[in-house]
Amino acid sequence: MQLSRIDLADLHTPERIAATLHSQIGRIDGAVPVVEIARSLDIGEVRLDNFDGFEGMLLTDKVRSQGAILANTGRGRRRARFTVAHELGHFLMEHHVLTASEGFQCRASDMRETREDRQQRRQETQANRFAIEVLAPGYKTRRFLNDDPDLKATQVMRDELDISLEACVRRYVAMHPEPLAAVWSHNGRVRYPIRGPSFPWVKPESGSRLATDTPAARAIAQRASGFTRMQECHPGSWTDDESVAELFEQTRVGKNGHAVTLLWATITDAEEDDGLDELDVPKFR
Ligand SMILES: [Zn+2]
Repeated sequence: MQLSRIDLADLHTPERIAATLHSQIGRIDGAVPVVEIARSLDIGEVRLDNFDGFEGMLLTDKVRSQGAILANTGRGRRRARFTVAHELGHFLMEHHVLTASEGFQCRASDMRETREDRQQRRQETQANRFAIEVLAPGYKTRRFLNDDPDLKATQVMRDELDISLEACVRRYVAMHPEPLAAVWSHNGRVRYPIRGPSFPWVKPESGSRLATDTPAARAIAQRASGFTRMQECHPGSWTDDESVAELFEQTRVGKNGHAVTLLWATITDAEEDDGLDELDVPKFR
């Protein structure tokens, strides 16, 4: 594989860097070969191993004269692939400031960072945006977004893209045209929630218990692994935003008490107002 780092140097957003990279590579059948891509972009060594104390490391200097990537396989090979792409993001975004004397050292929580309020968080968020665009480019994910929301689609995505189910659910929620959110839990306690651009608000916070009257909580208590059906639920269990007219939920119960619940909202009001503006109906004041 022949790739050029020079063509990527002046692009500042992670999405543009990833898109240009994919246009250099061309269409790929199957999973994106991220290790091979990293090596073609001047990463001298990629080591996948069971490391302790960090999830990923990029050994480099301020001007990126060389690079080596270490990725932890302790949480699975698929997560390690995401980690390699994340570290490659730090390498290509040369404005990212080194976080350790020998380069970048990243934790497991950095791999799902979405905040941009401080420089270091913004760097981690940008590295994640780059990683998912590289591993799950639009041309490979779009066809999953045509149907009504269904967690089973994310499992097919996982197998095709060879990335973790968690990364697939995040991608699915962010890209699906319907208002979606997802809540990860462990033994009935919320690990963390995410929401897509049109989902108003998720009430349960990290560490809180899932409401016991939800289908999610019942499925998790039964410990029967697999998918529940998408079913209507009481919106107040998940959100206190009044624009949510109806809410549906579906849960995938995994092993060892881990679960993810997909939320699908029907939103009222705001869209109708937009319609009036588009038709240029005079407003009476
Ligand atoms: Zn990082």
